[in-house]
Amino acid sequence: MAIIASNFKTNHTRKSTKEFICNVNEYLKKNEISTEVIVFPTSTSLDNFDTIPSFFIGAQNAYATQRGSFTGEIGTEQLDEFAIKTILIGHSERRHILGETQEQVAQKFNFYKELGYKIIYCIGEPLEVKEEGLNSTLEYIYEQFIGIDTDYENLILAYEPVWAIGTGVTATNEDIVNIHNAIKEKISKPLLYGGSVKVNNVREICSLNNVDGALIGTASWNQEDFIKIIENTK
Ligand code: PEP
Repeated sequence: MAIIASNFKTNHTRKSTKEFICNVNEYLKKNEISTEVIVFPTSTSLDNFDTIPSFFIGAQNAYATQRGSFTGEIGTEQLDEFAIKTILIGHSERRHILGETQEQVAQKFNFYKELGYKIIYCIGEPLEVKEEGLNSTLEYIYEQFIGIDTDYENLILAYEPVWAIGTGVTATNEDIVNIHNAIKEKISKPLLYGGSVKVNNVREICSLNNVDGALIGTASWNQEDFIKIIENTK
């Protein structure tokens, strides 16, 4: 069974999120889809649906706290209000744009692990590391597992090369298989690929060896396209 996740990043309003979630929910209810679907809306829309969706709604980010003085962040007190039990951790935009260190990422991971959250944990190398070759890439990726309990039962991994995220440049099948095979040899967890996955390449990517699904940004923001993506991987 494939896992398909949509990361809204900083897109969609409450109104358009509600429409998106309701329509995807309707589609999943009407069709026999075995694909596991996860949607990460903005934190302002985590409660934004009339009926509880038949799929997972997750937080793109939250601080490793119940509550406290962490300006601009939310904690579990807020997530609990919305019954959110799924979280994205280690996304490259948080690591590279917002400057989250591996230590902070691991602290967040352990905090949410202790609470039993479903964690989608992202790893992936920047372009300059990819250009150094496969060994350097794997070395870089393995360092992103420092402090992470890879045996955690509620863990899904997402390999997302930084150079492929939001660029329109998808990793080659060979790149994906090389990295996925190497990660799977060490860690036996569902492993998604992310990085410019689109309606027309999702089926092929998801059929590659050791690819268990996809984490998708840009191509998933349009609800018709997201439904087509689910359709193409069922
Ligand atoms: C992402 O943000 O996780 C992502 C994979 O984005 P995109 O699909 O736009 O490359």
